[in-house]
Amino acid sequence: MVHDLVIKGGCVVTPGCVAAMDIAVSEGRIAALGTGIAGRETIDAGGLIVTPGGVDPHCHNEQMSGMGLMNADTFETATRSAAMGGTTSLISFAAQAQGQRLKDAAADYAARGARGAAVDWAFHLILADPGAPEFEADLAALIAEGHRSLKVFTTYNIGLDDGQILRALTIAREAGALTCIHAENDAIIAAARARLLVEGRTRPIDHAASRPREAEIEAVARMCRLAEAARAPVMIFHVSTAEAAAEIRAARARGAPVWAETCPHYLFQTEEVLDRPGLEGAKWMCSPPQRSVADQEALWQALALGDLQVISSDHAPYRFDETGKLSAGPDAPFPAIANGMPGLELRLPLLFDAMVSRGRLGLARFAELTATAPARLYGLPAKGAIAPGMDADLVLWDPERTHTCGADDLHDNVGYNPFEGTTLRGWPVRVLLRGATIVEDGAWLGRPGAGRRLHRAAIGTRPADLTGRPR
Ligand code: MN
Ligand code: MN
Repeated sequence: MVHDLVIKGGCVVTPGCVAAMDIAVSEGRIAALGTGIAGRETIDAGGLIVTPGGVDPHCHNEQMSGMGLMNADTFETATRSAAMGGTTSLISFAAQAQGQRLKDAAADYAARGARGAAVDWAFHLILADPGAPEFEADLAALIAEGHRSLKVFTTYNIGLDDGQILRALTIAREAGALTCIHAENDAIIAAARARLLVEGRTRPIDHAASRPREAEIEAVARMCRLAEAARAPVMIFHVSTAEAAAEIRAARARGAPVWAETCPHYLFQTEEVLDRPGLEGAKWMCSPPQRSVADQEALWQALALGDLQVISSDHAPYRFDETGKLSAGPDAPFPAIANGMPGLELRLPLLFDAMVSRGRLGLARFAELTATAPARLYGLPAKGAIAPGMDADLVLWDPERTHTCGADDLHDNVGYNPFEGTTLRGWPVRVLLRGATIVEDGAWLGRPGAGRRLHRAAIGTRPADLTGRPR
């Protein structure tokens, strides 16, 4: 059989091994792995490492924030940026407005994705107003249609109370969905913020003190207990502290249906990034905030032990101008500044440098944490691994190529790079989406609208699913 395409001689990362082999692609899928395979077209991958296309399960695109600010990125600019860094599938958010029917929010965001996405995409449904008309009926129907993940907050102006979260968890369990949680204790944050404002501490660096680590630790512990009580699977988003990771380890040891992620900015930055003249530090403001070197080490250990299963970007793009970070003016106090920073494009290169080039956890775990595990946990059976039958979403890395991040060299619409000045070894030189090259030597060859919406399988609650092992 002659295949459409063969990628020859790369060092290929499969779920079972890392070895030199050819990858045959037909009709957008991986048809075979082996040696001496023939194809109508050939890509020479000699000297390159081939990993599965990244799956980023936490990114905010073309979304209206709780503060009423629109993200800087449309699906078009966000997916271009994602692909330039090797990510070929992403899960964004469909955000319910107050009073809005969930099905209307889902339809609105689906239209945004269909219009602009250049890589494959799906949504988490943000549950912001359980009092909206037909809330529970819409929720169950949308889950059945393939919206297999929900998002709830314990804080912000869209935070739900414990009773509302328990009810959502129960519906999610019955309908087969995973509930993602932004877990920080709202009262602890409100008290810390009030104290700081009384003291006149309003700069971006004070944002860190306004989100005490106890806020995360308490809420993570409580959400683990709610998951156990409801027997419903949860994903704890963006774990930033050693103690929260320890709470998750303890909960999983009890058999709790809990998974968790962290993000590159918690692994590679500390709160010092916020301490800059004027409002400059606002570029790095996110919640939870960056923590300490000791927390970084604890998070790496939690990844090594499997307590945390996923590394997402939490891409939350706002420009450093009046449309974004400076929307409340050039002297705004931290509570009036939008939270978030760009992360879609550098998630894989930052982790490749740390995990592969510097050897921390290694190549197999790099693929697992950035692609295989998120695809498995979020119900994307054709994504996240190089194996026959899977979509041919592939990243070809030059392990020797170095890249120093510039001030404004990302392909999103944000206008700054939070890792400016960082030099990375290992760079994605070619990216394929379902067998089609969409990035080659830094050139963007993708097409807005070419991304497919991913309809997802039911999220299981069997013990085997909860261990995070392959089904
Ligand atoms: Mn969050
Ligand atoms: Mn987020």
